[in-house]
Amino acid sequence: MKDRIINVLAAFESDNIGKSFPLDYCLPLYHSVSDRELPHIKHVIRYKNTKQFEEDLDHLAKNFQFVDWQGFKEFTSGNFKPKKKIALLTFDDGFREFYDVATPILERKGIYACNFVNPAFIDNKDMMFRCKASLLADAVEKNKIIDPEVYHVFSLDNQVDRGVLQKNILQVNYQGKDMLDQLAEKLEVDFKAYSKEFKPYLSTEDLKELTRKGFGISSHSWDHPKYGDLSLKEQMETTDKTFAYLKENGFLYESFAFPFTDFEVQRDFFDELFKNEEIYCSFGCAGVKLDSVKKNFQRIPMEMGESGEQILKRETAYFKLKRLINKNTILRK
Ligand SMILES: [Zn+2]
Repeated sequence: MKDRIINVLAAFESDNIGKSFPLDYCLPLYHSVSDRELPHIKHVIRYKNTKQFEEDLDHLAKNFQFVDWQGFKEFTSGNFKPKKKIALLTFDDGFREFYDVATPILERKGIYACNFVNPAFIDNKDMMFRCKASLLADAVEKNKIIDPEVYHVFSLDNQVDRGVLQKNILQVNYQGKDMLDQLAEKLEVDFKAYSKEFKPYLSTEDLKELTRKGFGISSHSWDHPKYGDLSLKEQMETTDKTFAYLKENGFLYESFAFPFTDFEVQRDFFDELFKNEEIYCSFGCAGVKLDSVKKNFQRIPMEMGESGEQILKRETAYFKLKRLINKNTILRK
């Protein structure tokens, strides 16, 4: 119902999104771009192909002025008055397609992007648990026979539809992630062999090369936990460890993007985070929204199975609707 109302409102949004967009900055978020089927991502992210990605970029470039990290800092601190509203392109998770597919396009178009990475997965030392879940969901689809034990783990009857089993696997959270390693054996998936063969993540050398090319490599926590589920101490440990890693390697240590979501992250974390004066700001991904923590900027997820143009219209309509009822700012305890 909510989606239907927003879609109807979005249809009335002007085509001149550069004008109607409600904030003076636009922060699109991607993970991957590929023309291929990527089993470790496809069940968890609806990534775009190169044509869709280029269309998004062209639409954004028409309506906004792309900036780099320096430009973003100057703009948000009031030292730079652009002709158009600005856009800062961001990627999360440090997947190899950022280097292989996205940056050649970005270099051709002269667009900067920053990728927020998890040091635990760099050099393919490990794989994020969501990617593991995606690989397992893929095996459920493709394996001829499934060990009944796999169903038992989720207390499912082994007669249920495979889609139900997939759904259960995809719902496993960070705290339950060890379960995925046990399931892998039963589903004959070898995460290590997959990592070795396909190298889903960028290497330290790749990140250094991207930095030399002028792209940003910044923090997405050590190994992608959901911050809302962690204690303040745990939140700071994973954040500080990543900050030190970035600094050591000459990467962009001035920002931090929350893994998953900043939902239910309270003010005490931000107070603690910004005690480190070298951190300029943080990023969430709640779409077009304001945040009561002024240094926390919300980004727009662009991998929702729609064109960038549709997403920006829908986000604009939704923001205006929320503004009517004073719900367009995230409040924190
Ligand atoms: Zn992420």
